[in-house]
Amino acid sequence: MNLLLIRLIIFAVLFFAGLQLYRMYRQWKLDREEALDSESQQEGGQMVRCAWCKVHVPEADALREQGEWFCSSAHRDRFLQEQHPEE
Ligand SMILES: [Zn+2]
Repeated sequence: MNLLLIRLIIFAVLFFAGLQLYRMYRQWKLDREEALDSESQQEGGQMVRCAWCKVHVPEADALREQGEWFCSSAHRDRFLQEQHPEE
């Protein structure tokens, strides 16, 4: 067996090993994205809108006060201040 043939075989082996790794990586990435998608759909639930800044936030992260949703306690306080300025 001459040196060139050995190099060719090594090159071919490395090429197919790389191809196999790439396929495995791509499959792993697809599986991971699918898992993340189904996870966020389960956890995210309903999206609600902050009554102060109009930003949409997941219901789990939002605060509820007087029938309105808020993205944070700061916006809840500001909204309630606007509604009852005298207090
Ligand atoms: Zn807000």
